[in-house]
Amino acid sequence: HDDHPVRFTNEGLRLDHKPENAIEWYVKIPHHEDYHLWIPAQPNPEQRDWLEALNAGDAEMGESRLFEQDGTWFLHITATRDVERASKVSREERTPIGVDIGEASLVTVCHRDGHGSPTRPELWADEGKTIRRLRKTYFTTTRRLQTRGSERIAESFGDDVWSQIDDVFHSVTREVVEYAESIENPVLVLEDLTYIRESMDYGEYMNRRLHGWGFAKLHAQIRYKAVEKGIPVKTVNPRNTSKQCHACGEVGYRPRQATFTCTNDACWIGEYQADVNGAINIADRYLSGESHSREHTDGDDSAEDGGRLTAPQDSQADAEVQQETLGTYAS
Ligand SMILES: [Zn+2]
Repeated sequence: HDDHPVRFTNEGLRLDHKPENAIEWYVKIPHHEDYHLWIPAQPNPEQRDWLEALNAGDAEMGESRLFEQDGTWFLHITATRDVERASKVSREERTPIGVDIGEASLVTVCHRDGHGSPTRPELWADEGKTIRRLRKTYFTTTRRLQTRGSERIAESFGDDVWSQIDDVFHSVTREVVEYAESIENPVLVLEDLTYIRESMDYGEYMNRRLHGWGFAKLHAQIRYKAVEKGIPVKTVNPRNTSKQCHACGEVGYRPRQATFTCTNDACWIGEYQADVNGAINIADRYLSGESHSREHTDGDDSAEDGGRLTAPQDSQADAEVQQETLGTYAS
């Protein structure tokens, strides 16, 4: 309880991710030799890719700073990772690759060839099946363990299941970036999560929170892995990407999860693989000028849903003057 921030070297602080909890992120604050505080933390969604990289060991944590401002505690983490410089080509020269995240197929990617025809669709359907099975196992088993009063076992079982889910996510997101690498001047196009949170129809068998978690996590992993390879990532408005026909633009419907049907009689598309149709729509929005880049959001690091792990930069001025010492952990 002091006006001055507490500093930690990279030895002292640790992040933990528990996606199964209502609050997903925790920070371990070293207190004494064998006594630590685990504090729940709300990250800035804009910086989620950094957290995913840190959590996966693909970024390195440096010095961090904990301080209070206006009754809220903030943690600034310094992190570094290797990235490749993106090639300088114009927007029109880039080939947009649409990335659709769904339930049946966990991720679907597709792009258009030089003649404008959709080509090389890739679906991670088996992985979607694996994730559904793991989620189901998690819910049924933890419920059973909890009713027996085995909270500790339920927790470690949960950690294990979610780390398996994370492994699947990491292998899929790595393959998505490899797909992009195989194309000249690629740009990965994702749906804008802020819209999805507000307006998406989640479907009957989709757990809202877990689905939201899957989206955010997959997006963040794709982002940081793409940047490592110098591949730009843009987001587009997801409105009707799953219901619109990629050939004629008409809003059709999905008689089954995996099928899109175009209702326009003049259109050559009758039925089409729904996830691939969605991925092409997402890719097309990049060229129609609907895409956004995060590079232009600098200067506003506030989180869109109220939570944040950062505070205005001017609060660092004090930090340079004086600092707390805290055992062997503080610098
Ligand atoms: Zn059509």
